[in-house]
Amino acid sequence: MKYVTEYRDANLVKGVIDEIRRTVTRPWTIMEICGGQTHAIVRHGIDQLLPPEIELVHGPGCPVCVTPLELIDKALEIASQPKVIFCSYGDMLRVPGSGRDLFMVKAAGGDVRVVYSPLDAVKLARQNPDKQVVFFAIGFETTAPPNVMSVLQAKNLGLTNYSILVSHVCVPPAVGAILASPANRVQGFLLAGHVCAVMGYHEYPPLAEKFKTPMVVTGFEPLDIVQGLLKTVQLLESGKVEVANAYTRAVTFEGNVPAQKAIKQVFEMIDRKWRGIGTIPQSGWGLRAEYDSFNAEKRFDVHAIQTEESPLCIAGSILQGLKKPHDCSAFGTKCKPEHPLGATMVSSEGACAAYYKYGRVTIGE
Ligand code: SF4
Repeated sequence: MKYVTEYRDANLVKGVIDEIRRTVTRPWTIMEICGGQTHAIVRHGIDQLLPPEIELVHGPGCPVCVTPLELIDKALEIASQPKVIFCSYGDMLRVPGSGRDLFMVKAAGGDVRVVYSPLDAVKLARQNPDKQVVFFAIGFETTAPPNVMSVLQAKNLGLTNYSILVSHVCVPPAVGAILASPANRVQGFLLAGHVCAVMGYHEYPPLAEKFKTPMVVTGFEPLDIVQGLLKTVQLLESGKVEVANAYTRAVTFEGNVPAQKAIKQVFEMIDRKWRGIGTIPQSGWGLRAEYDSFNAEKRFDVHAIQTEESPLCIAGSILQGLKKPHDCSAFGTKCKPEHPLGATMVSSEGACAAYYKYGRVTIGE
């Protein structure tokens, strides 16, 4: 398959890793921000092929993982109500709230539906004027354009029975929060290629300069990842602070400008709570006041729900690159993908789930 198989060529990957080995002279800690990259790194064993000087730590870029527990509880509350059709991408159905998940709500009679696009939810709203249709709008910059398009389309159609439950988070504020932490260990970043395909990478040079940390836009196939790592190591070794693009087949500096305009028309920056990390100021998007009628949190009375995370869970430290999954006493014992206790075990993109799936650590070690 063009643009996929050639980026999985083992000989090409080995050649780039050899170049990393020839380039590195001292230890470096590099964070891949995106859970998709974490998954690819662990799946292909890239971290085990690298020279020992390079330590990879895993960032918070897993949208399912960082969606706050109380928002999942709000989704469960809304989905349980009569005359509601609750729509979501499939991966959110098994994410546990405080006591149950959307599958359990569906089993108890709730009208919970998996859709492949929020525009499918708008279609359902047109077909069911006597029902309230709610779409669970979570994710990073990548899922924002279709979500805002659904609101704009519902508005154009004059629909009064469509709303979205929003928990959008943005990558640059998370990068800033990680680098500003006194405990930070990260010296270089692999930026998420798909996020930059939408947003470009013009937001990152001020961050790189402020924290004197090089960053490289990186894709998701093994060759993409090692090329991103090689560029990062080259920048670190030469002492250059810049933002480079190692994913030029998909990303430009400006990004998708029409998509960015649509996002700004419907969303505004707000403080957002990240599961496992806490509130990061101005780190996500919420609906602008003029789109209040499409805001599910305002349409349904669910504001009071508050929740507590498991005290055993160290996902917050993992998502900031301070610890690894096997540092957690619950990993693989009290916490497994079937019964996750925390953020990074709930999604296949989470670091704990990736380590568990690929048997990276013997349970009980
Ligand atoms: S293994 Fe489970 S409890 Fe431990 S950090 Fe990961 S998600 Fe949290």
